[in-house]
Amino acid sequence: MKTYPLYLNGEWVITETTNTVVNPATAEPFARISLIDRSRVARALADAGGGFRSWRATTGKSRGEYLQRIAGELERRRDEVARLITLENGKPLPQSLAEVAMSVDHLRWFAEEARRGYGRVIPNQVEGKRHLAIKTAIGVVGAISPWNFPLVLGVRKVAPALAAGCTVVLKPARQTPLSAVEFAECIDASGLPKGVFQLVAGSASEIGEEFLENPVCRKITFTGSTSVGQILIRGAAQGVKALSLELGGQAPLLVFDDADLTKAVDGAMIAKYRNTGQSCIAANRIYVQRSVYQPFLEQFVAKTKALKVGDGLEDGVQIGPLIDKDALAKAAEHVENAIEQGARLLCGGKTLPGRKGFFFEPTVLADVPDAALCMQEETFAPVAPVSVFDTETEVIERANVSKFGLSAYAFTRDLGRAFRLMESLEAGMIGINDGVPTTSQAPFGGVKQSGWGRELGAEGMEAFLQTKHISLCID
Ligand code: ADP
Repeated sequence: MKTYPLYLNGEWVITETTNTVVNPATAEPFARISLIDRSRVARALADAGGGFRSWRATTGKSRGEYLQRIAGELERRRDEVARLITLENGKPLPQSLAEVAMSVDHLRWFAEEARRGYGRVIPNQVEGKRHLAIKTAIGVVGAISPWNFPLVLGVRKVAPALAAGCTVVLKPARQTPLSAVEFAECIDASGLPKGVFQLVAGSASEIGEEFLENPVCRKITFTGSTSVGQILIRGAAQGVKALSLELGGQAPLLVFDDADLTKAVDGAMIAKYRNTGQSCIAANRIYVQRSVYQPFLEQFVAKTKALKVGDGLEDGVQIGPLIDKDALAKAAEHVENAIEQGARLLCGGKTLPGRKGFFFEPTVLADVPDAALCMQEETFAPVAPVSVFDTETEVIERANVSKFGLSAYAFTRDLGRAFRLMESLEAGMIGINDGVPTTSQAPFGGVKQSGWGRELGAEGMEAFLQTKHISLCID
Protein backbone atom coordinates (compact mmCIF):
# COMPACT_ATOMS: atom_id res chain seq x y z
CA MET A 1 0.00 0.00 0.00
CA LYS A 2 1.45 3.38 -1.01
CA THR A 3 2.32 5.87 1.72
CA TYR A 4 1.72 9.44 0.60
CA PRO A 5 4.07 12.19 1.78
CA LEU A 6 3.49 15.60 3.34
CA TYR A 7 4.97 18.76 1.82
CA LEU A 8 7.06 20.70 4.30
CA ASN A 9 9.19 23.71 3.43
CA GLY A 10 9.68 22.57 -0.15
CA GLU A 11 10.48 18.92 0.81
CA TRP A 12 8.43 15.75 0.44
CA VAL A 13 8.36 14.00 3.82
CA ILE A 14 7.28 10.40 4.43
CA THR A 15 6.91 9.49 8.10
CA GLU A 16 6.70 6.20 9.99
CA THR A 17 3.49 7.15 11.74
CA THR A 18 0.64 6.98 9.25
CA ASN A 19 -3.14 6.81 8.91
CA THR A 20 -4.84 4.51 6.45
CA VAL A 21 -7.21 5.93 3.88
CA VAL A 22 -10.35 3.89 3.23
CA ASN A 23 -12.31 3.60 -0.02
CA PRO A 24 -15.91 4.14 1.12
CA ALA A 25 -17.22 2.09 -1.84
CA THR A 26 -15.48 -1.06 -0.58
CA ALA A 27 -14.78 -0.21 3.08
CA GLU A 28 -11.16 -1.32 2.37
CA PRO A 29 -8.03 0.71 3.13
CA PHE A 30 -6.03 1.42 -0.04
CA ALA A 31 -3.33 3.96 0.91
CA ARG A 32 -1.56 5.59 3.82
CA ILE A 33 -0.86 9.22 4.64
CA SER A 34 2.15 10.40 6.62
CA LEU A 35 1.48 12.15 9.94
CA ILE A 36 3.46 14.68 11.95
CA ASP A 37 3.17 15.85 15.53
CA ARG A 38 2.42 19.28 16.89
CA SER A 39 6.05 20.37 17.24
CA ARG A 40 6.66 19.66 13.53
CA VAL A 41 3.54 21.73 12.71
CA ALA A 42 5.06 24.56 14.75
CA ARG A 43 8.17 24.31 12.57
CA ALA A 44 6.01 24.45 9.45
CA LEU A 45 4.43 27.66 10.78
CA ALA A 46 7.91 29.09 11.45
CA ASP A 47 8.94 28.22 7.89
CA ALA A 48 5.73 29.81 6.61
CA GLY A 49 6.67 32.92 8.60
CA GLY A 50 10.08 32.90 6.89
CA GLY A 51 8.45 32.43 3.47
CA PHE A 52 6.04 35.30 4.13
CA ARG A 53 8.80 37.92 4.34
CA SER A 54 9.62 37.59 0.65
CA TRP A 55 6.27 36.34 -0.69
CA ARG A 56 4.37 39.39 0.59
CA ALA A 57 6.75 41.63 -1.36
CA THR A 58 6.15 39.95 -4.73
CA THR A 59 3.80 41.63 -7.17
CA GLY A 60 0.22 40.49 -7.56
CA LYS A 61 0.99 39.80 -11.18
CA SER A 62 3.80 37.43 -10.30
CA ARG A 63 1.69 35.63 -7.65
CA GLY A 64 -1.01 35.27 -10.28
CA GLU A 65 1.48 33.66 -12.64
CA TYR A 66 2.25 30.97 -10.05
CA LEU A 67 -1.47 30.34 -9.61
CA GLN A 68 -1.91 30.03 -13.38
CA ARG A 69 0.89 27.45 -13.50
CA ILE A 70 -0.72 25.49 -10.63
CA ALA A 71 -4.04 25.60 -12.51
CA GLY A 72 -2.38 24.35 -15.69
CA GLU A 73 -0.71 21.47 -13.87
CA LEU A 74 -3.95 20.49 -12.12
CA GLU A 75 -5.78 20.53 -15.43
CA ARG A 76 -3.10 18.35 -17.02
CA ARG A 77 -3.47 15.79 -14.20
CA ARG A 78 -7.26 16.04 -14.16
CA ASP A 79 -7.96 12.35 -14.68
CA GLU A 80 -5.59 10.99 -12.01
CA VAL A 81 -6.71 13.60 -9.46
CA ALA A 82 -10.40 12.91 -10.12
CA ARG A 83 -9.84 9.15 -9.75
CA LEU A 84 -8.15 9.72 -6.40
CA ILE A 85 -11.03 11.94 -5.20
CA THR A 86 -13.46 9.15 -6.06
CA LEU A 87 -11.30 6.56 -4.32
CA GLU A 88 -10.97 8.49 -1.07
CA ASN A 89 -14.36 10.23 -0.98
CA GLY A 90 -16.62 7.91 -3.00
CA LYS A 91 -18.29 10.50 -5.24
CA PRO A 92 -19.12 9.48 -8.83
CA LEU A 93 -16.22 10.10 -11.21
CA PRO A 94 -17.98 12.77 -13.32
CA GLN A 95 -18.55 14.76 -10.10
CA SER A 96 -14.86 14.37 -9.19
CA LEU A 97 -13.94 15.68 -12.65
CA ALA A 98 -16.32 18.60 -12.06
CA GLU A 99 -14.60 19.24 -8.71
CA VAL A 100 -11.20 19.37 -10.43
CA ALA A 101 -12.60 21.70 -13.11
CA MET A 102 -14.03 24.01 -10.47
CA SER A 103 -10.69 23.98 -8.62
CA VAL A 104 -8.89 24.99 -11.82
CA ASP A 105 -11.42 27.79 -12.31
CA HIS A 106 -10.93 29.04 -8.72
CA LEU A 107 -7.15 29.09 -9.24
CA ARG A 108 -7.56 31.09 -12.47
CA TRP A 109 -10.05 33.50 -10.89
CA PHE A 110 -7.70 34.25 -7.99
CA ALA A 111 -4.70 34.42 -10.36
CA GLU A 112 -6.46 37.36 -11.98
CA GLU A 113 -7.77 38.76 -8.70
CA ALA A 114 -4.19 38.83 -7.34
CA ARG A 115 -3.57 42.00 -9.37
CA ARG A 116 -6.53 43.77 -7.80
CA GLY A 117 -5.65 44.32 -4.16
CA TYR A 118 -6.85 47.89 -4.48
CA GLY A 119 -6.73 50.43 -1.70
CA ARG A 120 -8.12 53.95 -1.97
CA VAL A 121 -7.14 57.58 -1.73
CA ILE A 122 -9.32 59.41 0.79
CA PRO A 123 -10.04 63.17 0.57
CA ASN A 124 -8.48 65.10 3.45
CA GLN A 125 -10.24 67.28 6.05
CA VAL A 126 -7.13 69.13 7.18
CA GLU A 127 -4.96 71.06 4.79
CA GLY A 128 -1.59 69.52 4.05
CA LYS A 129 -2.69 65.98 4.94
CA ARG A 130 -3.19 63.05 2.59
CA HIS A 131 -4.96 59.81 3.52
CA LEU A 132 -4.53 56.41 1.97
CA ALA A 133 -6.16 53.09 2.78
CA ILE A 134 -3.86 50.31 1.63
CA LYS A 135 -4.35 46.55 1.70
CA THR A 136 -1.62 44.24 2.92
CA ALA A 137 -1.48 40.48 3.30
CA ILE A 138 -2.57 39.25 6.76
CA GLY A 139 0.38 36.87 7.17
CA VAL A 140 0.64 33.14 7.81
CA VAL A 141 -2.66 31.28 7.36
CA GLY A 142 -3.71 27.94 8.83
CA ALA A 143 -6.26 26.31 6.51
CA ILE A 144 -8.45 23.36 7.56
CA SER A 145 -10.57 21.57 4.96
CA PRO A 146 -13.24 18.85 5.20
CA TRP A 147 -13.71 15.52 3.36
CA ASN A 148 -16.85 16.21 1.31
CA PHE A 149 -15.14 18.31 -1.39
CA PRO A 150 -11.57 17.38 -0.52
CA LEU A 151 -9.85 19.24 -3.35
CA VAL A 152 -11.96 22.28 -4.09
CA LEU A 153 -12.47 23.38 -0.48
CA GLY A 154 -8.69 23.36 0.04
CA VAL A 155 -8.18 25.30 -3.20
CA ARG A 156 -10.86 27.80 -2.15
CA LYS A 157 -8.63 28.71 0.79
CA VAL A 158 -5.11 28.33 -0.59
CA ALA A 159 -5.64 30.17 -3.91
CA PRO A 160 -6.96 33.47 -2.45
CA ALA A 161 -4.46 33.37 0.42
CA LEU A 162 -1.53 33.02 -2.01
CA ALA A 163 -3.08 35.66 -4.32
CA ALA A 164 -3.25 38.10 -1.40
CA GLY A 165 0.42 37.51 -0.50
CA CYS A 166 -0.14 35.23 2.51
CA THR A 167 1.66 31.94 3.09
CA VAL A 168 -0.41 28.87 3.96
CA VAL A 169 -0.25 25.65 5.94
CA LEU A 170 -3.06 23.34 4.81
CA LYS A 171 -4.53 20.51 6.89
CA PRO A 172 -6.91 18.30 4.92
CA ALA A 173 -9.47 15.98 6.54
CA ARG A 174 -8.32 12.62 7.96
CA GLN A 175 -10.57 10.68 5.54
CA THR A 176 -9.43 12.47 2.35
CA PRO A 177 -5.82 13.70 2.43
CA LEU A 178 -4.69 12.27 -0.93
CA SER A 179 -6.14 14.81 -3.34
CA ALA A 180 -4.44 17.47 -1.19
CA VAL A 181 -1.12 15.69 -1.84
CA GLU A 182 -1.86 15.85 -5.59
CA PHE A 183 -2.64 19.57 -5.20
CA ALA A 184 0.68 20.01 -3.36
CA GLU A 185 2.43 18.26 -6.26
CA CYS A 186 0.89 20.77 -8.67
CA ILE A 187 2.06 23.59 -6.41
CA ASP A 188 5.55 22.12 -6.23
CA ALA A 189 5.64 21.84 -10.04
CA SER A 190 4.83 25.56 -10.31
CA GLY A 191 8.16 26.41 -8.65
CA LEU A 192 6.52 28.24 -5.74
CA PRO A 193 9.22 29.32 -3.25
CA LYS A 194 9.64 26.99 -0.27
CA GLY A 195 7.62 27.71 2.83
CA VAL A 196 4.89 29.56 0.90
CA PHE A 197 2.62 26.52 0.83
CA GLN A 198 2.89 23.47 3.09
CA LEU A 199 0.75 20.39 3.63
CA VAL A 200 0.44 18.84 7.09
CA ALA A 201 -1.55 15.95 8.60
CA GLY A 202 -1.85 14.62 12.13
CA SER A 203 -4.16 14.96 15.10
CA ALA A 204 -6.81 17.51 14.07
CA SER A 205 -7.24 18.93 17.55
CA GLU A 206 -3.47 19.33 18.07
CA ILE A 207 -3.00 21.01 14.71
CA GLY A 208 -6.00 23.22 15.43
CA GLU A 209 -4.51 24.18 18.80
CA GLU A 210 -1.13 24.94 17.26
CA PHE A 211 -2.78 27.20 14.65
CA LEU A 212 -4.70 28.93 17.45
CA GLU A 213 -1.89 29.30 19.94
CA ASN A 214 1.15 29.95 17.75
CA PRO A 215 1.51 33.72 17.29
CA VAL A 216 3.07 33.27 13.84
CA CYS A 217 -0.27 32.02 12.51
CA ARG A 218 -2.40 35.12 11.95
CA LYS A 219 -5.55 33.68 10.49
CA ILE A 220 -7.44 30.39 10.43
CA THR A 221 -9.75 29.54 7.58
CA PHE A 222 -11.97 26.54 8.15
CA THR A 223 -14.75 24.55 6.50
CA GLY A 224 -16.45 21.91 8.61
CA SER A 225 -18.95 21.32 11.35
CA THR A 226 -20.46 24.04 13.51
CA SER A 227 -19.19 22.21 16.61
CA VAL A 228 -15.55 22.42 15.48
CA GLY A 229 -16.17 26.01 14.34
CA GLN A 230 -17.25 26.79 17.91
CA ILE A 231 -14.04 25.20 19.27
CA LEU A 232 -12.06 27.49 16.97
CA ILE A 233 -14.05 30.57 18.01
CA ARG A 234 -13.39 29.81 21.69
CA GLY A 235 -9.71 29.10 21.01
CA ALA A 236 -9.28 32.27 18.95
CA ALA A 237 -10.17 34.50 21.90
CA GLN A 238 -6.76 34.23 23.58
CA GLY A 239 -4.74 35.42 20.59
CA VAL A 240 -7.62 37.42 19.04
CA LYS A 241 -7.00 35.37 15.91
CA ALA A 242 -8.83 36.18 12.68
CA LEU A 243 -11.24 33.44 11.55
CA SER A 244 -13.15 32.61 8.40
CA LEU A 245 -15.66 29.84 9.07
CA GLU A 246 -17.83 27.99 6.59
CA LEU A 247 -19.96 25.76 8.80
CA GLY A 248 -23.06 23.60 8.60
CA GLY A 249 -26.13 24.27 6.52
CA GLN A 250 -29.79 23.24 6.62
CA ALA A 251 -30.97 24.56 3.27
CA PRO A 252 -34.68 24.92 2.59
CA LEU A 253 -35.88 24.46 -1.00
CA LEU A 254 -39.22 26.11 -1.78
CA VAL A 255 -41.39 25.15 -4.75
CA PHE A 256 -44.25 27.58 -5.48
CA ASP A 257 -47.30 26.80 -7.59
CA ASP A 258 -46.21 29.31 -10.23
CA ALA A 259 -42.88 27.50 -10.82
CA ASP A 260 -41.95 25.53 -13.91
CA LEU A 261 -42.48 22.19 -12.20
CA THR A 262 -40.06 20.17 -14.31
CA LYS A 263 -37.31 22.72 -13.67
CA ALA A 264 -38.16 22.70 -9.95
CA VAL A 265 -37.90 18.89 -9.82
CA ASP A 266 -34.58 18.94 -11.70
CA GLY A 267 -33.30 21.71 -9.41
CA ALA A 268 -34.32 19.72 -6.34
CA MET A 269 -32.62 16.59 -7.75
CA ILE A 270 -29.28 18.34 -8.12
CA ALA A 271 -29.54 20.42 -4.94
CA LYS A 272 -30.38 17.26 -2.96
CA TYR A 273 -28.40 14.45 -4.55
CA ARG A 274 -25.19 16.09 -5.80
CA ASN A 275 -22.26 14.60 -3.90
CA THR A 276 -24.65 11.91 -2.58
CA GLY A 277 -26.30 14.56 -0.41
CA GLN A 278 -23.03 15.27 1.39
CA SER A 279 -22.81 18.95 0.62
CA CYS A 280 -23.13 21.82 3.07
CA ILE A 281 -25.43 23.57 0.59
CA ALA A 282 -27.54 20.44 -0.01
CA ALA A 283 -31.31 20.99 0.05
CA ASN A 284 -32.18 19.41 3.37
CA ARG A 285 -35.84 20.43 3.61
CA ILE A 286 -38.12 20.59 0.58
CA TYR A 287 -41.35 22.60 0.94
CA VAL A 288 -43.91 22.38 -1.88
CA GLN A 289 -47.06 24.48 -2.27
CA ARG A 290 -50.25 22.46 -1.86
CA SER A 291 -51.63 22.61 -5.41
CA VAL A 292 -48.40 21.20 -6.92
CA TYR A 293 -47.48 18.90 -4.00
CA GLN A 294 -48.73 15.63 -5.55
CA PRO A 295 -47.37 16.21 -9.07
CA PHE A 296 -44.02 17.31 -7.57
CA LEU A 297 -43.81 14.17 -5.45
CA GLU A 298 -44.67 11.92 -8.40
CA GLN A 299 -41.96 13.38 -10.65
CA PHE A 300 -39.40 13.64 -7.87
CA VAL A 301 -39.91 10.04 -6.71
CA ALA A 302 -39.77 8.72 -10.30
CA LYS A 303 -36.45 10.51 -10.90
CA THR A 304 -35.09 9.44 -7.51
CA LYS A 305 -35.89 5.78 -8.23
CA ALA A 306 -34.06 6.05 -11.55
CA LEU A 307 -30.78 7.15 -9.91
CA LYS A 308 -27.98 4.63 -10.33
CA VAL A 309 -26.24 3.82 -7.05
CA GLY A 310 -22.80 2.21 -6.93
CA ASP A 311 -19.03 2.53 -6.89
CA GLY A 312 -18.20 6.00 -8.21
CA LEU A 313 -15.69 4.52 -10.67
CA GLU A 314 -18.44 2.54 -12.45
CA ASP A 315 -19.99 4.02 -15.57
CA GLY A 316 -23.25 5.87 -15.15
CA VAL A 317 -23.26 5.89 -11.33
CA GLN A 318 -24.95 9.01 -9.92
CA ILE A 319 -25.02 8.17 -6.20
CA GLY A 320 -21.88 6.90 -4.50
CA PRO A 321 -21.35 5.62 -0.97
CA LEU A 322 -21.49 7.79 2.14
CA ILE A 323 -18.16 8.57 3.74
CA ASP A 324 -18.30 6.04 6.60
CA LYS A 325 -20.39 3.86 8.91
CA ASP A 326 -21.35 6.78 11.16
CA ALA A 327 -22.81 8.62 8.16
CA LEU A 328 -24.92 5.55 7.32
CA ALA A 329 -26.16 5.35 10.90
CA LYS A 330 -27.13 9.04 10.88
CA ALA A 331 -29.06 8.66 7.61
CA ALA A 332 -30.95 5.64 8.97
CA GLU A 333 -31.69 7.47 12.23
CA HIS A 334 -33.09 10.49 10.37
CA VAL A 335 -35.36 8.28 8.22
CA GLU A 336 -36.57 6.26 11.20
CA ASN A 337 -37.22 9.37 13.25
CA ALA A 338 -39.23 11.02 10.44
CA ILE A 339 -41.39 7.91 10.01
CA GLU A 340 -41.98 7.71 13.77
CA GLN A 341 -43.22 11.30 13.60
CA GLY A 342 -45.73 10.52 10.86
CA ALA A 343 -43.79 10.90 7.59
CA ARG A 344 -44.57 8.57 4.67
CA LEU A 345 -41.65 6.70 3.06
CA LEU A 346 -42.08 6.92 -0.73
CA CYS A 347 -38.85 5.20 -1.79
CA GLY A 348 -35.49 4.03 -0.42
CA GLY A 349 -34.96 4.29 3.31
CA LYS A 350 -32.23 1.77 4.04
CA THR A 351 -28.66 0.75 3.41
CA LEU A 352 -28.00 -1.04 0.12
CA PRO A 353 -28.15 -4.78 0.81
CA GLY A 354 -25.18 -7.04 0.04
CA ARG A 355 -22.57 -4.27 -0.22
CA LYS A 356 -19.53 -3.80 2.01
CA GLY A 357 -19.33 -0.12 1.11
CA PHE A 358 -21.33 2.57 2.88
CA PHE A 359 -24.29 2.81 0.50
CA PHE A 360 -27.65 4.32 1.41
CA GLU A 361 -30.60 4.19 -0.98
CA PRO A 362 -31.85 7.51 -2.36
CA THR A 363 -34.85 8.20 -0.16
CA VAL A 364 -37.95 10.38 -0.40
CA LEU A 365 -40.12 11.07 2.62
CA ALA A 366 -43.42 12.95 2.30
CA ASP A 367 -45.54 14.83 4.88
CA VAL A 368 -42.49 15.27 7.09
CA PRO A 369 -43.32 17.34 10.19
CA ASP A 370 -41.07 20.30 11.04
CA ALA A 371 -40.19 18.65 14.36
CA ALA A 372 -38.47 15.69 12.64
CA LEU A 373 -34.68 15.52 13.06
CA CYS A 374 -34.09 15.72 9.31
CA MET A 375 -35.92 19.08 9.21
CA GLN A 376 -33.66 20.45 11.96
CA GLU A 377 -30.20 18.96 11.43
CA GLU A 378 -27.97 18.46 8.43
CA THR A 379 -28.60 14.88 7.19
CA PHE A 380 -25.61 14.66 4.81
CA ALA A 381 -27.12 11.75 2.90
CA PRO A 382 -29.39 11.15 -0.13
CA VAL A 383 -32.49 11.56 2.02
CA ALA A 384 -35.10 14.07 0.80
CA PRO A 385 -37.80 15.12 3.29
CA VAL A 386 -40.73 16.87 1.59
CA SER A 387 -43.45 18.88 3.31
CA VAL A 388 -46.49 20.81 2.07
CA PHE A 389 -47.16 24.54 2.58
CA ASP A 390 -50.00 26.94 1.79
CA THR A 391 -48.78 30.54 1.79
CA GLU A 392 -45.59 32.46 1.06
CA THR A 393 -45.58 34.04 4.52
CA GLU A 394 -45.93 30.65 6.18
CA VAL A 395 -43.11 29.02 4.20
CA ILE A 396 -40.69 31.92 4.72
CA GLU A 397 -41.25 31.62 8.45
CA ARG A 398 -40.71 27.84 8.37
CA ALA A 399 -37.61 28.22 6.19
CA ASN A 400 -36.09 30.81 8.53
CA VAL A 401 -36.69 28.90 11.74
CA SER A 402 -33.36 27.09 11.39
CA LYS A 403 -30.34 28.23 13.39
CA PHE A 404 -28.32 27.72 10.18
CA GLY A 405 -28.33 30.03 7.17
CA LEU A 406 -25.92 28.87 4.51
CA SER A 407 -28.02 28.49 1.37
CA ALA A 408 -31.67 28.47 0.32
CA TYR A 409 -33.45 27.68 -2.93
CA ALA A 410 -36.74 28.86 -4.37
CA PHE A 411 -38.56 27.97 -7.56
CA THR A 412 -41.00 30.61 -8.81
CA ARG A 413 -41.71 32.61 -11.98
CA ASP A 414 -43.23 35.54 -10.10
CA LEU A 415 -40.66 38.33 -10.11
CA GLY A 416 -42.14 40.19 -7.15
CA ARG A 417 -42.11 36.99 -5.11
CA ALA A 418 -38.52 36.26 -6.19
CA PHE A 419 -37.44 39.66 -4.82
CA ARG A 420 -39.38 39.18 -1.58
CA LEU A 421 -37.65 35.82 -1.12
CA MET A 422 -34.17 37.21 -1.87
CA GLU A 423 -34.72 39.86 0.77
CA SER A 424 -36.37 37.75 3.46
CA LEU A 425 -34.76 34.29 3.35
CA GLU A 426 -32.05 34.11 5.99
CA ALA A 427 -29.21 32.57 4.00
CA GLY A 428 -25.85 33.68 2.63
CA MET A 429 -26.62 32.21 -0.80
CA ILE A 430 -30.00 31.97 -2.51
CA GLY A 431 -30.64 30.05 -5.72
CA ILE A 432 -33.74 31.31 -7.51
CA ASN A 433 -34.70 28.64 -10.05
CA ASP A 434 -31.11 27.42 -9.62
CA GLY A 435 -29.99 24.28 -7.79
CA VAL A 436 -26.23 24.94 -8.18
CA PRO A 437 -25.46 28.53 -7.22
CA THR A 438 -21.70 28.25 -6.54
CA THR A 439 -19.32 30.04 -8.90
CA SER A 440 -15.74 31.34 -8.61
CA GLN A 441 -16.66 35.01 -8.93
CA ALA A 442 -19.48 35.21 -6.37
CA PRO A 443 -19.22 35.17 -2.56
CA PHE A 444 -19.83 31.85 -0.80
CA GLY A 445 -20.69 31.65 2.89
CA GLY A 446 -23.43 31.74 5.45
CA VAL A 447 -25.30 33.76 8.05
CA LYS A 448 -26.39 32.73 11.58
CA GLN A 449 -24.63 29.55 12.77
CA SER A 450 -23.43 28.77 9.25
CA GLY A 451 -20.34 30.83 9.74
CA TRP A 452 -18.28 33.98 9.42
CA GLY A 453 -16.90 35.54 6.28
CA ARG A 454 -17.06 34.64 2.61
CA GLU A 455 -14.96 32.57 0.25
CA LEU A 456 -14.70 33.13 -3.53
CA GLY A 457 -15.42 36.34 -5.40
CA ALA A 458 -13.68 39.58 -4.53
CA GLU A 459 -14.66 38.89 -0.89
CA GLY A 460 -12.65 35.64 -1.04
CA MET A 461 -9.38 37.52 -1.42
CA GLU A 462 -10.43 40.35 0.88
CA ALA A 463 -10.52 37.72 3.65
CA PHE A 464 -6.72 37.49 3.50
CA LEU A 465 -6.03 41.22 3.37
CA GLN A 466 -5.93 43.80 6.13
CA THR A 467 -6.57 47.50 5.75
CA LYS A 468 -4.05 50.10 6.88
CA HIS A 469 -4.75 53.80 7.02
CA ILE A 470 -1.77 55.95 6.11
CA SER A 471 -1.95 59.61 7.08
CA LEU A 472 0.68 61.69 5.28
CA CYS A 473 1.68 65.24 6.08
CA ILE A 474 3.45 66.54 3.00
CA ASP A 475 3.79 70.15 1.92
P1 ADP B 1 -17.13 16.74 9.49
O1 ADP B 1 -18.27 16.49 10.41
O2 ADP B 1 -17.48 17.25 8.15
O3 ADP B 1 -16.07 15.66 9.47
P2 ADP B 1 -15.36 18.32 11.10
O4 ADP B 1 -15.64 19.70 11.55
O5 ADP B 1 -15.23 17.25 12.10
O6 ADP B 1 -16.49 18.04 10.05
O7 ADP B 1 -14.07 18.27 10.18
C1 ADP B 1 -13.68 19.31 9.30
C2 ADP B 1 -12.18 19.51 9.42
O8 ADP B 1 -11.90 19.95 10.76
C3 ADP B 1 -11.35 18.24 9.21
O9 ADP B 1 -10.15 18.60 8.56
C4 ADP B 1 -11.09 17.79 10.62
O10 ADP B 1 -9.93 16.99 10.72
C5 ADP B 1 -10.90 19.13 11.31
N1 ADP B 1 -11.06 19.10 12.78
C6 ADP B 1 -11.76 18.22 13.54
N2 ADP B 1 -11.66 18.52 14.85
C7 ADP B 1 -10.89 19.63 14.93
C8 ADP B 1 -10.41 20.46 16.00
N3 ADP B 1 -10.72 20.20 17.26
N4 ADP B 1 -9.63 21.52 15.69
C9 ADP B 1 -9.33 21.81 14.41
N5 ADP B 1 -9.74 21.07 13.35
C10 ADP B 1 -10.51 20.01 13.60
